[in-house]
Amino acid sequence: MPFPDRRARPALRAEAVAPTRRGLLALGCACCLGTLPISPAAAQSPEVARHLAAARAAAGEDLRPWLALGQAATPTAAPPLSIEALMAQPPPPPAKAFDNLAFVGAKWVSAWALTTSGGVILLDALNNEDEAERLIEGGLRRLDLDPAQVKRVVVTHGHGDHYGGAAWLKQRHGAQVAMSGADWRMLETELEFDVPQWGRPPRRDVVVEDGDTIRLGDTAIEVLMTPGHSPGTISLLFDVREGRRAHRALLWGGTAFNFGRRPDRMQRIESYIAGTRRAKGVAAREDVTVLLSNHSGYDEADKKLQRLQGSTANPFVIGREAVQRALTVIEECALATQAAWST
Ligand SMILES: [Zn+2]
Ligand SMILES: [Zn+2]
Repeated sequence: MPFPDRRARPALRAEAVAPTRRGLLALGCACCLGTLPISPAAAQSPEVARHLAAARAAAGEDLRPWLALGQAATPTAAPPLSIEALMAQPPPPPAKAFDNLAFVGAKWVSAWALTTSGGVILLDALNNEDEAERLIEGGLRRLDLDPAQVKRVVVTHGHGDHYGGAAWLKQRHGAQVAMSGADWRMLETELEFDVPQWGRPPRRDVVVEDGDTIRLGDTAIEVLMTPGHSPGTISLLFDVREGRRAHRALLWGGTAFNFGRRPDRMQRIESYIAGTRRAKGVAAREDVTVLLSNHSGYDEADKKLQRLQGSTANPFVIGREAVQRALTVIEECALATQAAWST
């Protein structure tokens, strides 16, 4: 397992989370929901309201999709879509967001292909083998990229909508699959979510941890642990290029507070908040101007890819200030949820 470089480990690490019974998706998809119905007192809580107001203020008009996270702290409105309905949505066409970054995802869940001088690093692997073949392989071909050049699959976290196609990509192309140790452990013990539509988990391959660098050819990806959404969610920092210009990008590895029914939810939300605050500092220091998600529902990647056609300005480059505001939205929604669960 040669590829991560190890640096000194900062203090923030994924906490160990005791495996629980296999969670069936009573409320729909793993990555959107799993929220805890909150009490009438929580719905009236001034602290919840204060954090949600701060989230709305940070979101402004341009970052509103991230406010969906605040639903975990408010009484639920519409019933969620089923996983079948989510997966049945027609996929956006594959397209390049930058010279070295292509979208090869589904409508609901994204996969990104980072092209390097040494092959392709795939960031997440969609729901299953069928999507990996149709959307990832097919998408790469449509963009004149060779699927056989996929050398690495980095899985942001151990939920099936992100690892589902990984085992097949490894088998087919010999790609190494990387995930955090905590999420490999989860896959080896008991999945916190599972549905029949998801591919089976890949076998443990490469372990990456906080501070590691994933290298391929001329490209380096820095690994930042942002646990909470899963025990070992990783977020990824890398450069994207447009001609001679480079921008620093952060791919947020796991978003929704879908662990509200778990007994360890308070530790999980605390880790999430700490990870978000740390990520804000890293993003400020590294001048991150591009914030990507693995669900278009948050970063609106599908809409931005459409807007990119024929546009001179790249809508994925939102700027340092907007990246900071987006992370503040995430943080404030997490604080609202923490307050709601404490009430
Ligand atoms: Zn997901
Ligand atoms: Zn997830």
